[in-house]
Amino acid sequence: MNKKFRIFATCDIGEAFSRLRERGYDLEVYPQPQAPPKSLIIEKVRSGVDGLVTTLRDPIDAEVFEAGKDTLKVVAQIAVGFDNINRADANRYKVPFTHTADVLTEATAEFAFLMLGMLARQMWSAEHLTRESQWGFWHPYLPFLGDEITGKTIAIIGTGRIGLAMIKKCAGFDMNMLCYDPAYENHDYINAIQELMDLRHTRGISKEKTWIKYVPFETALRNSDFVSVHVPLLRPGESSTPTLHLFNETTLKLMKPTAFLGNTSRGPVVDEKALARALREKWIGGAALDVYEKEPLPADSPLRDPSIADRCRLMPHFASAARITRLDPDPNKGMAGRCVQGLIDVLESNYGGDVTKMPYVVNKEAFGKT
Ligand code: NAD
Repeated sequence: MNKKFRIFATCDIGEAFSRLRERGYDLEVYPQPQAPPKSLIIEKVRSGVDGLVTTLRDPIDAEVFEAGKDTLKVVAQIAVGFDNINRADANRYKVPFTHTADVLTEATAEFAFLMLGMLARQMWSAEHLTRESQWGFWHPYLPFLGDEITGKTIAIIGTGRIGLAMIKKCAGFDMNMLCYDPAYENHDYINAIQELMDLRHTRGISKEKTWIKYVPFETALRNSDFVSVHVPLLRPGESSTPTLHLFNETTLKLMKPTAFLGNTSRGPVVDEKALARALREKWIGGAALDVYEKEPLPADSPLRDPSIADRCRLMPHFASAARITRLDPDPNKGMAGRCVQGLIDVLESNYGGDVTKMPYVVNKEAFGKT
């Protein structure tokens, strides 16, 4: 019989929690939809919980780990990004933390693609026209036109899990692709996509020949009609190629004045002041955003400027927000299922208790054999 593990969850994740209850875990779920104050997380950890279930809204750092010294055994995050968890602190206190990679990959890439499509084809403005009874006639080019996606060139910034899934979706729309990733170039995948593109062309499915290749960052920005960002948030000191404000005045100015930027990664990857200026002054064609430097988006954000509303789509950190992806209790389908499985693996010493073998643990480096 399991020891009765105590868990504090900073939010509800639905049916997946019944797996913990069935196993006799003592589970407390923060009842509000908003994030709990950090002081409450610390209080719960200090009271001796074995595991924490967290979301990207919860700051998990040395203060939290210190409160759980000798008692906190695992932090299970329901998200793939973990920039809210201080990895160095987790390692110092030797607390493994888990994430929910892979199960949200397709949903996030799909949303990134659709968001860019909505922006380029002016769907938001077009629906307003209809709803507000401003649709007075069919006309070849009035009151405005959108831009096609099919046949255009897209820059894929970051070719990890979601970047590669985005490539697959773009290939279906006969797009050319310029890929950039300073740490991970998956040439096998890119070559397979090129073969697929060539086959579509030779069999008459695609009219034009299309192509995909890795290029330097600046080349990708200068030559693309769309730019889609799929990097983790990495602050200076966390990587030799940090992504904080990767898109700033200088790099936004490299983009074509007609190009569209899509960001479903993390807000601080884009300098929002610079982006608002880029939209106002038309350095770029438009932007579709799902994530922000501060979330929820503040009322006084320059991105809310009505004069750029037709060129700036604003989504509420929604890219993985699809039913199966978020809540399926199966660890191979849903973030909720994978989050719970990550927690169980650590607490119940699955994989012979070897943290380095547990698939959902992120900071394996802290548990290598010495
Ligand atoms: P991943 O780790 O598989 O891929 C990230 C890729 O970015 C890696 O290949 C890495 O080498 C690359 N990279 C690192 N620094 C870079 C740089 N300076 N320039 C270009 N590329 C760089 O991660 P993933 O599963 O593809 O997820 C990517 C990110 O997307 C997550 O970290 C998360 O922040 C975000 N995300 C957001 C949502 C949402 O709801 N909006 C959903 C899922 C993921």
